[in-house]
Amino acid sequence: MDKVISVSLGEIVLKGLNRKYFENKLIDNIKRALKGLGDYSIYKEQGKIYIEGLESVEQTVINRLTKIFGIIYVSPCIRTSTDLEDIKKASIKLLNEKINEEEIVTFKVNTTRSDKRYPLISPEVSRIVGAAILDEIDNVKVDVVSPKINVYIDIKENAYIYIDKFKSRGGLPIGTNGKGLLLLSGGIDSPVAGYMMAKRGVEIDCLHFHSYPFTSQRAEEKVLKLAEELSIYTGPLKVYSINLLNIQKAINENCPEDQMTILSRRFMMRIGERIAQENMYDCLITGENLGQVASQTIDSINVIEKAVNMTIFRPLIGFDKTDIVKMAIDIETYETSILPFEDCCTVFLPKHPLTRPKLKEILEAEESLDIEKLIDEAIKNKIIHHIK
Ligand code: ATP
Ligand code: MG
Repeated sequence: MDKVISVSLGEIVLKGLNRKYFENKLIDNIKRALKGLGDYSIYKEQGKIYIEGLESVEQTVINRLTKIFGIIYVSPCIRTSTDLEDIKKASIKLLNEKINEEEIVTFKVNTTRSDKRYPLISPEVSRIVGAAILDEIDNVKVDVVSPKINVYIDIKENAYIYIDKFKSRGGLPIGTNGKGLLLLSGGIDSPVAGYMMAKRGVEIDCLHFHSYPFTSQRAEEKVLKLAEELSIYTGPLKVYSINLLNIQKAINENCPEDQMTILSRRFMMRIGERIAQENMYDCLITGENLGQVASQTIDSINVIEKAVNMTIFRPLIGFDKTDIVKMAIDIETYETSILPFEDCCTVFLPKHPLTRPKLKEILEAEESLDIEKLIDEAIKNKIIHHIK
């Protein structure tokens, strides 16, 4: 009887011929997440991945595995031979660990058998093991409808017996769906947007704009902290940090006041596109959400995205703010997001920002700016932070 941890795959199982590719990416991501925890082995057996040898840090392993995309749940198992006596012993041992003397506990045995040559069919195995449990343990009772405890038995080359199923995050393994550059502000939305795209398998790096010294060093640190919190799910990532102040000053001096937000957003997109092209990102990602603020009306979004040719993903576009906040709390970025530091967009904030900008007027205003030079300078002065 050996202890192992089983990893159940989510959508990957639907992947047909590509399945191996997705599984191998997932195994790479698991190995990266378990680095530094000690020696272990990892193997596939008929549809699941198993990890053997990290018993002493089991809780840490589970914590880390339940934050990896592509996994739906994780279970500490006992691995035995497929001999029915071994299976009975393991089931009794696991169930015994779960009950106490005082109360009567209901249970059910659930068997799956991927080895169809196994001499007994699944319901028979469940019945025989259930009977053995009743013989051996006093205060348990069978309830096949709503048992308090489920005992699971997977019969494969080996048999795996488990009770606990720790829910993981679903999605697809990071790295199976290209690379995206997330425009990360200090707000609530953009970290959630990054999380959602990463969950669909997109490898993420971040781009942040600040207006130092108008915005503080601590505002910058807050964004790096958000990136660090996001990296729990994404793995190591880069944050490209760009000072937007000269661009904002140029807009402020040369363009109508109410266009400030739209014009600076168009610069953010252009800089994002340039960095993406130079570093092989396939898309830009923002936390934009329809109707939330003046720069997020359909007209504003239209005019902002016309500055670039690149695909922009806005995974939060249709969510209510309350739902975004719930997600931010769930992924544990919320507390950092609400720290009260100024954002670069609050610098030169117009009193009455446009909600219905006209592309023609915006293009006219931009004629007074040396766009390429401003972008070149901003990018030349970028700082890259590596979040481990
Ligand atoms: P968030 O909570 O993400 O800040 P928000 O509700 O404040 O969003 P806006 O400020 O209008 O919305 O920003 C919309 C999106 O534009 C952000 O989600 C982010 O992707 C991008 N963005 C805004 N400000 C910055 C910034 N300083 N650096 C990088 N990206 C930014
Ligand atoms: Mg913001």
